[in-house]
Amino acid sequence: MNLKEKVTKLNRIGKTLEKRLSVLGIETVEDLLFYFPFRYEDYSSILTIASLQAGQEVTIKGKIELINSKRSHKSRKIITEALIFDGSERLRVVWFGQPFISKNLHVGEELFFSGKVKSDIFGLQMVSPAYERVKKETTHTARIVPIYPLTIGITQKQIRFLVSQVVHYVDEIVDWLPDDVRDVADVMELREAIRSIHFPENQDDIAHAEKRLKFDELFVLQLRAEMLRQAISVSKAPVIKFQENYTKEFVASLPFELTKDQKVASWEIIQDLGKAKPMNRLLEGDVGSGKTVVAGMATLNTVLNNYQVAIMAPTEILAKQHYESFCVLLKDHEINVCLLTRSMRFINRDKVEINGDNVEKESLSLKELSEKIESGKINVIIGTHALLSDKIKFKDLALVIVDEQHRFGVEQRASLIRRQSALVPHFLSMTATPIPRSFALTMYGDLDLSIIKQMPKDRKVIKTRLVDDHNRQKAYDFIREQVKQGRQVFVICPLIEQKEKDENEIEIINYSFTGSQEKKSVLIEYEKLNKQIFPDLRVDYLHGKLKSVEKDEKMQNFASGKIDILVSTSVVEVGVDIPNASVMMIEGAENFGLAQLHQFRGRVGRSSHQSYCFLFTTKTSVKSKERLEFFEKTNDGFVLAEYDLQVRGPGAVYGTSQSGLMNLKIATMKDISIIKLARDVARGMDFQKYPSLKKKVGEWEKDVHLE
Ligand code: ADP
Ligand code: MG
Repeated sequence: MNLKEKVTKLNRIGKTLEKRLSVLGIETVEDLLFYFPFRYEDYSSILTIASLQAGQEVTIKGKIELINSKRSHKSRKIITEALIFDGSERLRVVWFGQPFISKNLHVGEELFFSGKVKSDIFGLQMVSPAYERVKKETTHTARIVPIYPLTIGITQKQIRFLVSQVVHYVDEIVDWLPDDVRDVADVMELREAIRSIHFPENQDDIAHAEKRLKFDELFVLQLRAEMLRQAISVSKAPVIKFQENYTKEFVASLPFELTKDQKVASWEIIQDLGKAKPMNRLLEGDVGSGKTVVAGMATLNTVLNNYQVAIMAPTEILAKQHYESFCVLLKDHEINVCLLTRSMRFINRDKVEINGDNVEKESLSLKELSEKIESGKINVIIGTHALLSDKIKFKDLALVIVDEQHRFGVEQRASLIRRQSALVPHFLSMTATPIPRSFALTMYGDLDLSIIKQMPKDRKVIKTRLVDDHNRQKAYDFIREQVKQGRQVFVICPLIEQKEKDENEIEIINYSFTGSQEKKSVLIEYEKLNKQIFPDLRVDYLHGKLKSVEKDEKMQNFASGKIDILVSTSVVEVGVDIPNASVMMIEGAENFGLAQLHQFRGRVGRSSHQSYCFLFTTKTSVKSKERLEFFEKTNDGFVLAEYDLQVRGPGAVYGTSQSGLMNLKIATMKDISIIKLARDVARGMDFQKYPSLKKKVGEWEKDVHLE
């Protein structure tokens, strides 16, 4: 048998167990070896019964003197009681609801019992301990016992048993880290680490094994980033000379003064553009922090150097908003700006909408527009990722700006690099998602960072309130008042993202749809608001299951003031600008991460109107109340993200898909020192010398994309 052998070849694995194991991703012997415990119980100390004290987690070794079962009067459960003698004293042991125990165990047998010592009026006892016949190599008792994440229908004992059956295969594991790299990183051999993670002899073993295994996961990510970084750094980019005078004029023409952070970010970008090496930068800044002008400055400089700029947004609405902003920002120059999406084709704000109503000029065919792009008549091309279609050919593309979709940015960029033969365009990714440094280093290790932390001065703070349900009517009255004053309102409902965590269970994410009283679904809420609460107002709804044309249409209606109240799921999260909206009402707020709530909140307060964010909850545990209260008084997206990263982990903060993208099983964003170590070791890596490392990155990518 080898590592790739199916686990079904093992003893005691039937069809049912096979299925359940595959739920955990365990199909081969290797999968089993790489299935790691998430914690341990230390039952390594074997004590005499006479020396026991209440509260200890220990192992005793003794003979069964008595054992019998009876049915409890109250709970109707089977209770098994035994008396154990180890030469020093006797101890009572009890199990609940495990009728088979009295058949398995017999008077006179000597066993290990591992569990917690408790005390009641009759003295000390052990409740539901793990037990095992006395032998040299134990699995469930008398050692540091691993606790694995489980799924329904599999027990700790089963996993431990299976692992003990295959542990000798560790000798077949080939360490993918070259010896000298391992030395530099100061991590143990992979075989040893795998053995120790399942069968540690002491706490040090666990620490060393964890370090090695976490390092492996984080190192692959860093290697990948390093490969990208190296590929980019050897390629050539157009040099964009700084247009100092025009840039000064541009800044002077703005109706506001740039914040210090905006100036620093702009400067960093302009510096990068001036180099013959492609810029690869992530511009992070809270909603409303003013990233657009920074991008505008980079665009202006690029176009004044006679190159083209492409700006991509994840949705048509966002693309259109950018188009409008850029037309205004660049109006003082002879710069041609176009918008190109599936349903819209505009040049320089001449209204040419293809399927919409406001066709003022003759409509522009895709062919005409792409000819203008290819000939270089158009300088700034704004759109969705449709821009990356092979049909669109640029003349001299020198800068690609991607808004709110960094992952997509990186992947697409690779394809752009491949397409562009001589010069690779500079790349700027923008996001309002606050990404703490540790996360950025891991996820976007290949990107340089510019951060806008400071908000423009005169920004009004959005008033945030956690509202008790008995004040709901007051909130509705308030909303009606706002609408009367001409404002608009968002109502956000969760689409079920309840994470249940049972001690020995793997995290189960429940995507079941609502209908229950617990969760407010968009449609139910919409019906209620539209028919009962605000029959006289214009209410509409939005959710992810709608066709994108429908979504865009509803958003357009909201943007143009045809809707007063928009009931929506989290699809409105990304940078949509509705300056007239002043109330953000969030149902089931406990279901969202704080960073996400912050994104919602950023949808309002985008003009001079005082804005409000109301949070409602359907069930309030103390913990979630604490989180929401923290949110109530904190306006800094970074602080909120950091808080949630600690409390709820990266999955909750950045969505399971993104943290899933990293494929982390054992490492987390809290492993800052290992993240740094992995980054340091990866920096400047000579991939010619270590082809195995390159291969590993390839395998990792394949794994991730298969999911
Ligand atoms: P985001 O970073 O969310 O994309 P925007 O670039 O859309 O933010 O800017 C939000 C609003 O703030 C815009 O109306 C913009 O004109 C304005 N703005 C940008 N910078 C400043 C500033 N330094 N002072 C005042 N208002 C600013
Ligand atoms: Mg923006």
